[in-house]
Amino acid sequence: MSTVDKQLETVRAEIAEEVPPDISISDVKYEGPELVIYTRDPKKFARNGDLIRRLASKLRKRITVRPDPDVLARPEDAEERILEVIPEEAGVTDLEFHPETGEVVIQARKPGVVIGRHGKTLREITQEVGWTPEVVRTPPIESTTVENVRNFLKQEREDRRDILERVGRQIHREPMSDDEYVRVTTLGCCREVGRSAFILSTPDTRILVDCGNKPGATEEQPYLQLPEALGSGASTIDAVVLTHAHLDHAALIPLLFEYGYDGPIYCTEPTRDLMGLLTLDYLDRAADEGRTPPYDSEMVREAIKHAIPLEYGDVTDIAPDVKLTLHDAGHVLGSAISHFHIGDGLYNVAFSGDVQYDDTRLFDGAVNDFPRVETLVLESTYGGRNDYQTDQEDAERKLIDLVTETYDRDGSVLIPTAAVGRAQELMVVLEEAMREGEIPELPVYLDGMIWEATAVHSTYPEFLSDDVRDRIFDEADNPFLADAFEHVEGGDDERESIADGDPCIVLSTTGMLEGGPARSWLEYLGDDADSTLAFVDYQAKGTLGRRIQNGWGEVPVDDGTVDLEMDVQTLDGFSGHADRQGLENFVRTMNPRPDKVLCVHGDESASQDLSSGLYHEFNMRTFAPQNMETFRFI
Ligand SMILES: [Zn+2]
Repeated sequence: MSTVDKQLETVRAEIAEEVPPDISISDVKYEGPELVIYTRDPKKFARNGDLIRRLASKLRKRITVRPDPDVLARPEDAEERILEVIPEEAGVTDLEFHPETGEVVIQARKPGVVIGRHGKTLREITQEVGWTPEVVRTPPIESTTVENVRNFLKQEREDRRDILERVGRQIHREPMSDDEYVRVTTLGCCREVGRSAFILSTPDTRILVDCGNKPGATEEQPYLQLPEALGSGASTIDAVVLTHAHLDHAALIPLLFEYGYDGPIYCTEPTRDLMGLLTLDYLDRAADEGRTPPYDSEMVREAIKHAIPLEYGDVTDIAPDVKLTLHDAGHVLGSAISHFHIGDGLYNVAFSGDVQYDDTRLFDGAVNDFPRVETLVLESTYGGRNDYQTDQEDAERKLIDLVTETYDRDGSVLIPTAAVGRAQELMVVLEEAMREGEIPELPVYLDGMIWEATAVHSTYPEFLSDDVRDRIFDEADNPFLADAFEHVEGGDDERESIADGDPCIVLSTTGMLEGGPARSWLEYLGDDADSTLAFVDYQAKGTLGRRIQNGWGEVPVDDGTVDLEMDVQTLDGFSGHADRQGLENFVRTMNPRPDKVLCVHGDESASQDLSSGLYHEFNMRTFAPQNMETFRFI
């Protein structure tokens, strides 16, 4: 008998002690990080409201109870009764029954109403019909991404269950080594922005944190071939953790499956969906530019199939000696600081991913309270000595002035921006400014994937700031559905006629002008001295955006070049990144404060400045590592 089976037998005995004798336990299994208990008495289980919670705290595991398939009410009968239990106002749009696991997926416009206070309505459903309900939100703005991901996962449900069972056994295997060490190897994004990737290793476990590309450089990838990384085979990695969906963190996640990786990707649910959206677009753009992409769309589907979504704050076993907790990073939808607890109190490492410490319109600022943390791996995008940004209020004022001045000149405003993050922040600001009459009511054209990314934001309001979340909950007030916003769907002809028409605002990908429709907009608006080009995103070295910021006047477009006559402005307060002050504040108020900080994900001078600044200010050990360094902490 394997060690996992032995362990499950013990768990089963412990469950039997806790569960009243009239409730049968037919099977106990691991599925990913969860313990799944099968019973012939799901209704009695549900009636015993406290039982699951008691079991979870006794076994220190996340627990799901599922009915034995042969005790279930027939889906046709169950559907009727479920709809009777759920209040009308929940707006149920779909019920989907999975007899092989006894689960029913309920899609509703107001999932909170389906769940009920402390899960009361969910328990009532099980008491009535025996099925285990799972609730998802009906996207308020139709989202192809969310629909595709959900349909795909539905179709792959069997396969996915096999994956989860395999992962579950991996996680709960017996540790093999008596040795103790904790190491981090840097595979990219050190003294540079882009290609984020780290290996966190112990004698028993190897975890890859992020796997991104480098904007502006098509060939440079993380150093995955190192023996510490995938050099000894992708299957030697136990788990992948993805902090957020931006391509400089996520673009090469699907490539891992091409290399033979077959394990879990831990991330939040919106990160999973946005990763799908952004990596598929990454492949399209590679094809448009005549490059051979490093993987195909099949690998994106593999990545989605292997994703295990976690909620902020859930402590999750991901290896015999590692627990992972994701915390809100305040950077983009679903972004997470990844906190690893290693061994039984042995060591704690947190990877910031990208962080914004201040509250923004869209997100609460990053969490920096942890039970323990000895080492912090911290981004340094704006870590340079002089990298101070305008505060949000001033930035908004500048945006309003800039739009008004441009409008008075009869010009248009082009804002290149990443589809995920600043675009939605700007939408909220522009919607309010128009509503309050601070700027004229202009059409705001959303190009590239901004519309679709916005639809994904609307699907996950729980991940947004209270204000925007409440407005989305109150369907009539969803800021993203304001009349001013128009989706560009007609290609270059439509762009050209919009550019020739009345003044407007254009939000278009990509944020650093590396390809994407923003390049076409430059072709049509570039030589118009009355119009304004406004940068709101960080412009990495080597990108066209950075060159224009540095004064480039001739811009390459599809056929030839355009003399750039537009007024070029940089609005630096809309960033999803903490500035130097924000990074210092993040560390200053961090609870507890770490012993060591590795400053990564910044240009060389920014990382070094931040490292020496934190050292002088807080008297902690700080580093600005290079790529391919290994740190041993224990
Ligand atoms: Zn990012």
